[in-house]
Amino acid sequence: MGAPDTVAYCHCRDCRRVTAAPVAAFAAFRNRDLRLIPERDKAKTVTEGVSRWFCPDCGSQLMARFDYLPDQSYVPLGILDQADQLPPEVHCHAASALPWLHIDDALARVEGTARATLRR
Ligand SMILES: [Zn+2]
Repeated sequence: MGAPDTVAYCHCRDCRRVTAAPVAAFAAFRNRDLRLIPERDKAKTVTEGVSRWFCPDCGSQLMARFDYLPDQSYVPLGILDQADQLPPEVHCHAASALPWLHIDDALARVEGTARATLRR
């Protein structure tokens, strides 16, 4: 596993539902830097244009890929052993954040997808 392009919180409703948490956090890796090769036919699509893979034993989300970011894979921080070394750099979909959730940091807050930051 190489270093991620970026690490981000995502406050969108889809990520909330899929992770069953008030906010999701993902590391964005280049596909070529991952040893995990997802099986296309095992992907679940909750939202059009987004493929997600889940652990068949415990149900945790393992990875997501977005059609508009084809060379990246998004791995939830919660499943990474190195999560303590991967602090998020941006809040995506900040406009959708739950009103009672207050994360006290100075990170950039992007109302929508933060595509430009994620592809950097
Ligand atoms: Zn999201």
